[in-house]
Amino acid sequence: MDSIRTLLLARTQTVVLDPDRVANASTRPTRDVDLEKFEDELAQLGFVMSLDLAMTIRRLPHQAIVELRAWIATTLATTLGAHRPNVPLFRGFPAKAPDHTTSPYLRRMMSWLLTRPTQPCPWCGQLKAVGALDPCGHLVCRSCWDGGAYAGCPICHRRVAIGYPFVRAATTMEPVTHHDGELRLLHLGFDLIGSARSRFERLVGQPSPLAPDDRAEIEVVIDEMGPRTVQWLPARIPVKETMAITLARLWTVAPDRAAMLHATRGHLATATDVLRVAVVLLGGNPGLVEPMRLGSVGRGMRRALLEAIDRLPAEQVIEDMWRYRGLWKRVGERLHPYEYAKHLPVATLAFAAVRRTRLDTATFGGAIRDKAHGITTVRIANHRARVTPWASLVEQHLRTGDARAAAERLGQRPSELLRRVDHLLRVVQAQEPDAQAAVIGAASAAAARGSPAMLLGLAAHIARRTEPWPRRVFFPRGEVLKAWGTPDRRAPLRRDAIVAIVAIARAELVSRAQARRNFARAVIDRGLVDLLLLAPIGARAAGKSKIAWPRGSAIALPEVGDTTAGKVLRWFLHWEEPRGKRVDLDLSVAMFDGAWRHVATCDFANLVVGDRVVVHSGDLTSAPQPSGASEFVDLDLDRLRELGARHAVMVVFSYDAIAFDQLTCGFAGLMIRPRDGDPFDPRAVAQRFDLHGKSVITVPLVIDLEARRLRWLDVHIAGPSALAQVGGYRAALAHIGRDFADLASTGARPTLWDVAMIHAVARANIVYVRERSGAIAAYRRRDTEQALARLARLHAGDDPDAMLDVLPPANAPTWFALLRDDIALPAGSAGYVLDPKSASEGVERLSAAELVGELAR
Ligand SMILES: [Zn+2]
Ligand SMILES: [Zn+2]
Repeated sequence: MDSIRTLLLARTQTVVLDPDRVANASTRPTRDVDLEKFEDELAQLGFVMSLDLAMTIRRLPHQAIVELRAWIATTLATTLGAHRPNVPLFRGFPAKAPDHTTSPYLRRMMSWLLTRPTQPCPWCGQLKAVGALDPCGHLVCRSCWDGGAYAGCPICHRRVAIGYPFVRAATTMEPVTHHDGELRLLHLGFDLIGSARSRFERLVGQPSPLAPDDRAEIEVVIDEMGPRTVQWLPARIPVKETMAITLARLWTVAPDRAAMLHATRGHLATATDVLRVAVVLLGGNPGLVEPMRLGSVGRGMRRALLEAIDRLPAEQVIEDMWRYRGLWKRVGERLHPYEYAKHLPVATLAFAAVRRTRLDTATFGGAIRDKAHGITTVRIANHRARVTPWASLVEQHLRTGDARAAAERLGQRPSELLRRVDHLLRVVQAQEPDAQAAVIGAASAAAARGSPAMLLGLAAHIARRTEPWPRRVFFPRGEVLKAWGTPDRRAPLRRDAIVAIVAIARAELVSRAQARRNFARAVIDRGLVDLLLLAPIGARAAGKSKIAWPRGSAIALPEVGDTTAGKVLRWFLHWEEPRGKRVDLDLSVAMFDGAWRHVATCDFANLVVGDRVVVHSGDLTSAPQPSGASEFVDLDLDRLRELGARHAVMVVFSYDAIAFDQLTCGFAGLMIRPRDGDPFDPRAVAQRFDLHGKSVITVPLVIDLEARRLRWLDVHIAGPSALAQVGGYRAALAHIGRDFADLASTGARPTLWDVAMIHAVARANIVYVRERSGAIAAYRRRDTEQALARLARLHAGDDPDAMLDVLPPANAPTWFALLRDDIALPAGSAGYVLDPKSASEGVERLSAAELVGELAR
């Protein structure tokens, strides 16, 4: 259980103690000085114990405290990595002459309080103005202290100064650096398994793909808890990749594999589900994104995987496997399916179809022929099993202009139908006008089974089909480098069809939202319209970043102050290489004009562009521990425009193609250039993100100098050869920047604004929309007005019930979806903030993926 304990400490800052051990502990066996060292060590790492933890630890035996201290300090230091705060011992303190009773802990606490007077109070847990008690330095907020009549500190029992209990600091200030200045509370817990379980259930049930740390947590918990973890699985795991990771681990730890297969078979509805599990077991990625390397598995596991395929309906298995036949062929080489031909006929037939095995020479050929009888998705020709995909009949109907028949067959697979609504309607318009009602009826029936992302995408797409788009952009399976664009040659759709389909999708989503908790009011920002929801929605294997910007979104540039040096943004990079391995990272900015023609590049070979319009801090080719290396590029935005540049693309490049995941620490970001001589100011950082993954090049963002906005691209490139394939480095950057801009400009992709409106009209009596101008438009529920009608008013934005200058204050819970954390939210509120500040008590904060996930049926 020790690894779970460590995991909970690292990820939730909770020290889970054994309740029996604590109950049997005596009182105060340890010297104060030992405890003070312990607390000082935590303070140096930026942590402070909660009241109950500090009191409990003091009752433990000396040896237990020594062990606890080593474990906590090591674990927390590891989680911080290179981002350790630098906490000076506050000098010139106290105002009176220092005496020997002034402890390092108290002085250290004063450094924190001077950096930031509001800190989490260890007693009540709320973020408040706190003080350090005189003379021990233990923190408490005024309301907690005033709430009791104390003569001494309840933690250490020292007498507290009579009258004013807090230490007053002198004015010589030396703040904490390399840290945002806010202490983190260390909590106390007792229920190790219970805490691990509730986190496990939340992660597995989460509607967005797992981040790398989350995946590691799931795997650690399964390793520790063993096969019984299977009882913690929900009936349905919403994300397939999560399902595969979890099942693969469970199968690995289970001594009785057949029993585990039986216990988890409810999660394996299709052959593709089994493929994902197999690929994870073989060391590949559960998203099935090629290229990937596959290892091998033992005989028992091979048999379990083949059995999992064999028990599925044969028709579906064959067609599903055909869809991923390239990958299945490679997996088949590792599973040796024909060894089990006699016992597993369905699996054998499916592999025979995928591999085009000659049946006349195979020992199992006869049996397989018999099995193929009566399965509509397969036929035998030329001694080989041939697959007839389910969709081939649909294609045939569409080709011959029979939209009605195509819609009827597609009705068997609702999500497939929703994906093809545009095509069906075009066939209707061109060839079969009287089938429009039938197609709309089929779409309406399918909507109830559509995923939220599918319905949001459908509404956004169809709504923009009134006229041709400037350019259509496709990202095959999320591969941005392989994106391609075409002129839009599709005929626009008829307005009545557009209105009907959009209403179907929105009505379905609104009715799902109405089933959720209701609120007195909602507050939403119209600026959310710039935040795109590109598929896959959520952060697939995303690294940590300060603000979770959805990929493809446009964000206003941070306000660049007027300094004598002009308006300057600083693009920064910091990294640290592992011991014994040199890693040379390069920061660069490529500039393009309005037509995406190259203007200039600022990089290690070209440190200055124009008359110091763009300036690189200089190339560093290694970053040894402990201090690592940093590079900056400063961009003078106004003067860049004068050079004819419109777009500036940011790039981090690993010169020797060593992947970012080899670094002990690596991050990059954007900030307003601080005052001269001050290279890095954490308060000025607008965005900061970790370099991660197997990639060696990342293109995080592009700045539009004219619109004063940045677009978050979050593009990761595995190697320079991928760039060569698309015409080289500059061409690739221009391509990426332009494709995303064109994609966003069609307005045919769902945005967070769409999601916010649906929740707001479905769940709140009054909806306040903060317009871009700053004015506030109020939309009440009018008598007999349906939610869909109010939604249409919000969309159009031209018929509010009132316009206000300020948001009325409220005590009732609020549903919110905001760009900034700038309104007071009563307890019981729930919603989304793009750039959240600190947690406030009783307010539930959801991620973008969770907002979408809440629209699932
Ligand atoms: Zn308090
Ligand atoms: Zn104290």
